[in-house]
Amino acid sequence: MHKRTEELIKSDAEYIIHPWYMVGQNSGIVFEKSRGVYLVDTEGMEYIDMASGNCCCNLGHGRREIIDAVTKAINETDFTTAFFGHSNVYAIECSKRLARLTPGTLKHFHFTSGGSEAVDTALKTARLYWSNQGQAGKYKIISLYDSYHGASGFSAYVTGSGQGAFQNAFGPAPAGLIRIPSFYCYRCTYGLSYPACDVRCARILEDVIQAEGSNSVAAFIAEPMIGGGGFFEPPMEWWQIIRDICQQYQVLLIADEILSGFARTGKMFGLENWAIEPDMMAMSKGINGAYLPFGAMAISDKVYQSLKGTIFSQGFTYCGHAVSAAAACAALDIYVKDRVVENVVKVGNHVKQRLEAEFSPLPCVGNIGGMGLNYALELVENKNTKKPIDPATKKELVQNLLGNGIYTRIIGRLGNRLHIGPPCTITVDEADKALDIIQPLVARLKF
Ligand code: PMP
Repeated sequence: MHKRTEELIKSDAEYIIHPWYMVGQNSGIVFEKSRGVYLVDTEGMEYIDMASGNCCCNLGHGRREIIDAVTKAINETDFTTAFFGHSNVYAIECSKRLARLTPGTLKHFHFTSGGSEAVDTALKTARLYWSNQGQAGKYKIISLYDSYHGASGFSAYVTGSGQGAFQNAFGPAPAGLIRIPSFYCYRCTYGLSYPACDVRCARILEDVIQAEGSNSVAAFIAEPMIGGGGFFEPPMEWWQIIRDICQQYQVLLIADEILSGFARTGKMFGLENWAIEPDMMAMSKGINGAYLPFGAMAISDKVYQSLKGTIFSQGFTYCGHAVSAAAACAALDIYVKDRVVENVVKVGNHVKQRLEAEFSPLPCVGNIGGMGLNYALELVENKNTKKPIDPATKKELVQNLLGNGIYTRIIGRLGNRLHIGPPCTITVDEADKALDIIQPLVARLKF
């Protein structure tokens, strides 16, 4: 290791506290460059980015159009406020482009600096909606175990993955947040099998709303497919059942499209896979390909009309930041111009076929979940008992992957789902190159 890298790692350990990592430690990798689907560290080692950073670099790295748009914008302006009703040209341009892509009447936006802020804003807006209708008692929010919605105040408490790790040690939760089991079919909470289960995990929502009293439930929030909680998709009927229940009991449906949105699942937005239109959406990550921090809440006409003419009592300093919005304008143009959704379908189908043909038969691959260009392999010691691989094996596999030029992570409820989620712009050849490296490393796991 070069002296420079050694010094950087030492300084990092001394000064930087990493998210979800042992304080005072680091991974020993310092990234320095990124281009296309590749990341390069300070040792000059190249890695194929098989996790799109944090599943956010949907357009790959180093896109000239985005770099130019950001450079142009920052030469013109830096920060001007969105408070006091002021606006900036890039935020307006961004909202017009977004409105061309979002489904149905979800054409009204509030911008944020990231995903957690977008989720918090959506949850508060749902409560505001009911309060404006004279129903302030309708404040409860239902979410899923295995979901990930963020790490800020509200979003951390509706997050259901992590078995309490996102909430424990941070004091009491805000009131009125309820979690129900998710659609993790491989480890069904009810011990049932699809389709004989009659999608119990969706129908339970009705039981919970009835038990709580529908006049106390403001909203239900879920990701179109589970992301950070393990990358798996719901059974086909799940979303329609959920939509119908929400409709019947007058519960707002909030789609957390932060990870599923922007081509990731093979549609521009995840819920389009089931032709479902939510009442509200939270977006971030792919919105500008993660070139700068940015996010948004979108609301339907119904929700917008209830707010119109009232003060929107929510907002963050960097709301609609011009330079982040300029990056989003360029990114949104790329999704359309380069038909990124079509690429996800093409390469995603190819990746899925290879996962099923070459990984599924391996004794340590218990389950393959996901859709679009967002998959996970569940690694188990034994397919019958479904016992997860042990932490030492997992650590060794991650090290081997890195050592062989693959960047990804192993996460999920039991920390044993290997993420395969490259940029949505990856080619078949690049995906093949990565899978050719990953397959033998997974195949040689022995227990
Ligand atoms: N929702 C989902 C579905 C996410 O995947 C994430 C981030 N992984 C968030 C919310 C939170 O976003 P952020 O980390 O930008 O606050």
